[in-house]
Amino acid sequence: MSYSVTPIGFVRSCFKEKFAIPRQPQLAPAARGVLELVAPFDQAEAVQGLEQVSHVWLLFIFHQALEDKPRLKVRPPRLGGNQSLGVFATRSTHRPNGIGQSVVRLDKVEPGRLWLSGIDLLDGTPVLDIKPYVPYADCLAGAHNGIAEQAPAPITVDWSTTALAEAQAHGERLGEPLVALIEQCLAQDPRPAYQQPEPARRYGARLWDVDVRWHYPETGRITVLEVTPA
Ligand code: SAM
Repeated sequence: MSYSVTPIGFVRSCFKEKFAIPRQPQLAPAARGVLELVAPFDQAEAVQGLEQVSHVWLLFIFHQALEDKPRLKVRPPRLGGNQSLGVFATRSTHRPNGIGQSVVRLDKVEPGRLWLSGIDLLDGTPVLDIKPYVPYADCLAGAHNGIAEQAPAPITVDWSTTALAEAQAHGERLGEPLVALIEQCLAQDPRPAYQQPEPARRYGARLWDVDVRWHYPETGRITVLEVTPA
C-alpha cells in the first residue's frame, strides 16, 4: 500500500545549507524563517484561530536527505558518528519516508504566511502539515531519553573585531538578529564530532545572504573570523 502526500507550503529559512543548522529546534531562538503556504492553504480560512497559539508542530520532508534504500541503523552525530543505533531510536534525517518534525515558535500569522523562529529547517523545506502545540498533551514532565537527556553543552564563541562589526552591519541591513544567530548556531559546535579541529582549518556556512567563517583556536572554543556577502 502506498500513500501520496503534497506539501502545503515551503519554508524560507535563514539556513541556506545543512551545515551549522542546529540539530533540533529551539536551540537557536534567533533562527527565523517564513512558511509560505500554497493554494488552497494560502487563504485566510486555513489559519483562522492560529493567532491564539504560541508554537506549532511542523511535519516536513527532509528534501535534501532522501534515499532510495531504507536504513535500519544510523550513526547520530550526537554520539560522535562512530556508534550506530536503530533508526527509530534517533531523530536522524536518514529515515523511512524522510519525514521530520519540529516544534517552532509562531511569531506572526497572516493569510498565506507564518513567521517562525527557533527553526532547524533548511531553506526550501517542503512542509506537509502544521499542528498547534498543545502544552497539556505535548509537554511531559516525567519523560526521559537516555540517549539525548539534555541539550548539548554550548561551547564558547568569540569574535574577531572585524567579524563582529561585519555581522552587526549585515544584521541591520537584513533586519535580523544576525549576531545572536551566529553565536547560537556556532555554540552548538556544528563540526562533526569525529573531526579533530586543527586551529589552521577554517569552517564556513551560509546564513541568509552572508558567508560566516570560523576556526577553533583550541578545543571547545570558536572564533568567528569573517562575515562576508555570499
Ligand atoms: N527536528 C527535526 C526532527 O526531529 O525530525 C529535525 C532533526 S534533524 C537531526 C536536524 C537536521 O536536519 C539539521 O541539523 C539539518 O542539517 C537537517 N535538515 C533540516 N532541514 C532539512 C531538509 N529539508 N533536508 C535535509 N536535511 C535537513
